[in-house]
This record gives sequence, C-alpha cells and structure tokens, in this order.
Amino acid sequence: MAGLGAAYALRKRGLDVTVFEASSRPGGRIAVEEVHGFGIDIGANIFLEAFDTVREVAAELGVPLERTRVPIHGGVYRNGKFHGFYGGDHPRDQWKTARTLLSFRLLSPRGLWQLLRFTRMLNARSGELSLEDPSRMLALDDGESAADFVASRIGSEFLDWFFGPNLSGYTFAHPDQVGAAYAMAVLWFFGLKAGWPLRPKGGAGAFVEALARACGPSIRTSTPVRRIVIEDGGVRGVVTEAGLVEADAVICATTATAALRLAPDLPAGIRDALGRVTYSRCCRVFFGLDSSPFPQDWYAVTFPPQTGALMLGMSNSAALAPETVPEGKALIDVLVIGRRAEELSALSHEQAGLRVLAETRKYFPAMTREPLFTRVHRWDEAVCLAPGGMMSALHRMRRQELESVKGLFLAGEYMGVPSVNGALRSGLDAAADCAASLQPDESP
Ligand SMILES: Cc1cc2nc3c(=O)[nH]c(=O)nc-3n(C[C@H](O)[C@H](O)[C@H](O)COP(=O)(O)OP(=O)(O)OC[C@H]3O[C@@H](n4cnc5c(N)ncnc54)[C@H](O)[C@@H]3O)c2cc1C
Repeated sequence: MAGLGAAYALRKRGLDVTVFEASSRPGGRIAVEEVHGFGIDIGANIFLEAFDTVREVAAELGVPLERTRVPIHGGVYRNGKFHGFYGGDHPRDQWKTARTLLSFRLLSPRGLWQLLRFTRMLNARSGELSLEDPSRMLALDDGESAADFVASRIGSEFLDWFFGPNLSGYTFAHPDQVGAAYAMAVLWFFGLKAGWPLRPKGGAGAFVEALARACGPSIRTSTPVRRIVIEDGGVRGVVTEAGLVEADAVICATTATAALRLAPDLPAGIRDALGRVTYSRCCRVFFGLDSSPFPQDWYAVTFPPQTGALMLGMSNSAALAPETVPEGKALIDVLVIGRRAEELSALSHEQAGLRVLAETRKYFPAMTREPLFTRVHRWDEAVCLAPGGMMSALHRMRRQELESVKGLFLAGEYMGVPSVNGALRSGLDAAADCAASLQPDESP
C-alpha cells in the first residue's frame, strides 16, 4: 500500500517511477485468494470511515467505498460457555449489550466502572488520537506499553477481560507488546468511534488493483531488490538480480526490518530508529463450510487468553462480505496470535489446519462436518505494534536524520499510524518529500 501510494503520487506529478516488488503480485499485506468460488481476504480487510487518505485516493480512482452493515453480534467464551454480545445500533441491541455485560459478569461492578473510566478518558483525549498523523500522538507515546498504561491508570480486570482481547483482535498481539499511544488510537477508531466499517466495492483487493492500474507499467513484480546503494551521503540506486539500477531517488516502502536489511550502510541514528519497530505474528486458518456453525446472526466469537483456547477468535467472513462467499455458505476465519501462532509455525500447513480444526470442534460441534476446504496463512510480520516511544523516535529520525542521506525516503505503515490508511499516507508523504527534493521549485 505504501509503495503503490508513493508510485501513484509520483506519477501524478509527472515523474518517472519504477516499482520493484519482490512478490509475484502487488499489494503486500492486502491480498485476496480465490478458492472454490470463495474470495478470501487473507490480509487486511477492514477499512474505516476514519481512513481519510484511503477515502481520498479511492475517490480519485473511482473505487466506491461502501458501508458494511456488519452484524456485530457475537459471543465471548468464559466459564465453559459463550455469552452473547449485541453491538447493533438499534436501542434494543444496546439494551441487550448492557444486559449481557451485567448478567454474565464478564466484568464485575468494579470492572464496569473501569470500562466507564476508560471510555471517558479516551473521549477526553480523542483530540490527540489520529489515524492520519502520528505526530499528533507524541504526548501519549512516552515509552509506556498499553498494558502498563491501562493497569496503572484504569485497572487489571478491565485490562484482562475487555481491553486486552479487543486490542489483540486488531493488532494480533498482547497489550504488553503494543505502545500506549497506538493502542488508544486503535481502540478509539476501530472500536468506540468506528461507525460502520467501509469496504471497497469488490473487496480490499479491488482497491489494490485500481491503485496498481493507476501506477501503469511501472510495476515490476517478482523483482526483489537486493540492496539500496548509498555512496557519499546519497543514494545511487538499487541492486536487483539484473544488476545496479541507478535512480535520482529511492523510496524504500518495505517493513522496517526489510529496510534495515536492504540498506546496511544507513547512519546509526536511522538504524536505531528502525530497530525500534516491532511486528505481531499471526496465523489465520480459513475453513469453507456449508453453513455457519455459529448461533444465528453471530459474526464472531472471542476467546480471551485466560480461557486457554488456541485461537483468539473466529469470525464468519460471509457476514462481513456476503458477496465474496457462495450463497448460504460460510467462511470461518480462525485467528491464532503470538506464542500460539509460533507453535503452529513448526507444523506443516496440513497439520496446522487439522490442529486448528480439532480445537474449533471443542467449541462448535457443527465443525465436525468436513470443511469444503482449509487454507492456512501465516504472517510473521503482521501488524506494526508501535511499541512505546517508537513513533517519537521515527518522528525525530524523519525530521533530523533522514535528510543526511540525500535521495532516500522511507515509507510503510510504521512511518504512519499502523493500518492500511497509515501505510498509504506514508507513501503519499514520502512521494511529496521526494518530489520536493527533485523539483525544488514546484509546489507539491
Ligand atoms: C492478516 C492481516 C490483517 C490485517 N487487517 C487489517 C485491517 O483490517 N485493517 C487495517 O487497516 N490494517 C490491517 N492490517 C495491517 C495492514 O495490512 C498493513 O498495515 C498495511 O497493509 C501495510 O502496508 P505496507 O505497504 O506498509 O507494507 P506491506 O503491505 O508489507 O508491503 C511491503 C511490500 O514490500 C515488498 N518487499 C519486501 N522486501 C522487498 C524487496 N527486497 N524488494 C522488493 N519488494 C520487497 C513486499 O513484498 C510487500 O509487497 C492487517 C495485516 C494483516 C497481516
């Protein structure tokens, strides 16, 4: 998303661009796989109304973004059973939600009080939260993890049973791995202020395709860059299998870890800042089924880590995007994160699928029917976690250090607020900086 966004913005300015993409398709962590008539979003699939940059570019590309009226009814597993939650916007649903919170004692009166205090705190600090501009959140990014922040200011019951599972659902990591500023933004925009998610007509892949089309013939897939060549304080170009490709400027739009590998000659200040970036790991297992194993209308179920379940959650993608699944069928997306995802990485795809299927059967007897298909996708670097202090370090690096390497620009979700939107924003920002350096007299 960052690389395509940068190429798109540079081409709009009339610059000559080449995109080197290691994989056989553009899109990176947004990808769609077609299996037996099911369209599986194996990477990012939820766009929000707060994704201003995505909305702006989608409008330019003529890709309509549709509001997805997701039924967010679902269940949380605790004490041997599922407790339904009801997240619709009808007053009846709100009453049901309140009743469940009280009756199944997910939270004690103290925990409910903590929830209330947290909500009030987020409301009060919402002006500091942004999905567009990490620099607005620097006051909150003082080195603390989300877990420490919430435990010290709000309370551990809320942290364990509400904040943690919700945050993990978006970041695929536990709250002690996520920076406080980023966690607050994620919960505010993806949870409390979300409104209805947006979906590009035709799915997330359609947005990538439109963006790639707009980049024209400049994209070279299956062409990994081996090294970014930096000489005498400036970039000379990149090395691919075919040799050195000289360039006036290079925008490196990979993960931070790949950037460190590709440019070993970066000054220490830049390397230190990039070295602070961490990522979550997850394994997603998709099962095509003849019908949903969930109770009627449920979209998802959550297993807080304290339950000991292998997975963090399961959802039925057919509820989010019915047009991607053959009529009446279900596409169950099982999410395994952290250490449990690491355990699965030691297994073959087939073994991992069977292991996850066996686990789901403990909770949903309907899963005993053989799935129509099983697909296993592992992401070793799933979502940038913006650990405490990372945003501040990158902000300083961008302002002070990056200019010391003439012609080099960095883009990627980690340079923005981690999300599809942050990645795209970082690409447009890098393109603007790059264009300004190449055409200093032209306003962007
Ligand atoms: C399972 C999953 C679900 C997610 N869900 C959501 C969601 O619902 N909403 C949301 O906002 N975000 C979500 N995210 C996060 C979101 O996908 C990312 O923040 C965003 O797509 C990152 O974009 P990027 O351009 O920074 O990086 P990437 O998409 O990782 O792109 C980097 C590109 O660089 C290429 N590359 C790497 N090394 C080289 C090399 N040496 N030479 C050439 N090319 C190279 C890679 O192949 C890749 O195409 C999800 C992520 C995952 C994994």
